Amino acid sequence: MSKSESEKITFFDMAVAVCPECSTPVAESGWYGIDMASDVECYSCGEVFNMKKCAVDRATLTVVLSKNGKIKRLGVEEKIDLGE
Ligand SMILES: [Zn+2]
Repeated sequence: MSKSESEKITFFDMAVAVCPECSTPVAESGWYGIDMASDVECYSCGEVFNMKKCAVDRATLTVVLSKNGKIKRLGVEEKIDLGE
């Protein structure tokens, strides 16, 4: 990823799970969803389900910031294989 002098980079760990009721994919913080095995609510059907049990993928996103901390763009830095 190219980066100019005025940009800063941070990272965001995120996970994706699929709602067991309606199959809508839901994105959450990887720490909250996988490490803490938190329950989340599907924003499509309202089903409450366990993020860890329904997780399909996890990745570390690169967050590119302007020099005053505003989010400019996101990229995928690192994939963490959850297995099948
Ligand atoms: Zn749902």
